[in-house]
Amino acid sequence: MSTVLVTGGNGYIGSHTVISLFENGYDVVVVDNLSNSKMEVQNRLEKITGKRFKFYDIDCCDADKLRVVFEENKIDSVIHFAGLKAVGESVSIPLDYYSNNIGSMIAVCRLMTEFGVNNLVFSSSATVYGSSEDVPFTEESPLGTCTNPYGWTKWMIEQILRDYAKSEPSKRICLLRYFNPVGAHESGLIGEDPRGIPNNLFPYISKVAGGTLECLTVFGDDYNTPDGTCLRDYIHVVDLAEGHVKAIKFLEKTEDSVSVFNLGTGKGTSVIEAVKAFEKACGHEIKHVFGPRRPGDIAVCYASTKKAEEVLGFKARYGIDEMCSSCWKWQTMNPEGLKD
Ligand code: NAD
Ligand code: UDP
Repeated sequence: MSTVLVTGGNGYIGSHTVISLFENGYDVVVVDNLSNSKMEVQNRLEKITGKRFKFYDIDCCDADKLRVVFEENKIDSVIHFAGLKAVGESVSIPLDYYSNNIGSMIAVCRLMTEFGVNNLVFSSSATVYGSSEDVPFTEESPLGTCTNPYGWTKWMIEQILRDYAKSEPSKRICLLRYFNPVGAHESGLIGEDPRGIPNNLFPYISKVAGGTLECLTVFGDDYNTPDGTCLRDYIHVVDLAEGHVKAIKFLEKTEDSVSVFNLGTGKGTSVIEAVKAFEKACGHEIKHVFGPRRPGDIAVCYASTKKAEEVLGFKARYGIDEMCSSCWKWQTMNPEGLKD
């Protein structure tokens, strides 16, 4: 059985990916320092899969501690989710973002070299396309100028990994550029569990729908889009998780040292369409007001999904209605999120 080390596997996307890997016959080892997730996730994963995964509470920047994981397990592939991801916070504490995101990636790469592990999947983001609005974004679209330190860490890590792969021809690296992951597992046992007031649209709408927050502010209604609000490519987190399994399988057979794939649906959904879809899922109105544009937002962002479809065999199965209904189930089953 092939073993995948999942760093950040206790987080939102990582925990859903652990399930997909398990369902596809992979053995999984999770490393997470719990900086943005709760240990309860591991209990929930056990409830869903019937299996307790091997878990290490380790900071991936600490290569000496992380080495133990490679010593104790025969790792075949790594999926590196571990990282800080809040755009606004990255502007206030850029050094923490650069040192955590880049430091953890470098430590993982050093250990992959030391232990002869060749396959790596990295969580990149559509943010590397910068503020271009030449949609849909294809993997060949020029990398843009990022608007915040978080985005730059993704941009820089992509470059570091290209250089790393050049220096070690045995490495097989997949850069997955996610669009907007939303939704939750169908069980309602795991989902996105942000600390404090959410910045992202779906967690915010969920909390308004659930009554914890009073009103959603829609940032801008004067964009050049059909209803004036921004369009994003929302992708169900369970589809995204499947995309990682496809990427691992692809790395097991490819000759290419670095491969890049967009993971999205190829469809743009406006903020207002998302609100309407959520209202349908929860069965009541979601209070919202229109406010000014949020600095740094672009009007339209969606993926070309052609390459992922043709090369990885990946196609998202779920639409906005399933994204909203799964979010709502997670919200109603866990109104306060998970306990520490
Ligand atoms: P998340 O915060 O839920 O999960 C990340 C996990 O990594 C958390 O459990 C956190 O505790 C852990 N972590 C952070 N730094 C660590 C370190 N140094 N050592 C060990 N563990 C550490 O975030 P997510 O939404 O699941 O995102 C996963 C990855 O995907 C991140 O790299 C993120 O930047 C990237 N990504 C996310 C989105 C999104 O919208 N959610 C979009 C594009 C890319
Ligand atoms: N948005 C909004 N109100 C909010 C949060 C987000 O109108 O409280 C909008 C935001 O302006 C963007 C879209 O929802 O157009 C998606 O934002 P999110 O932060 O979820 O993802 P982003 O695409 O910025 O990474």
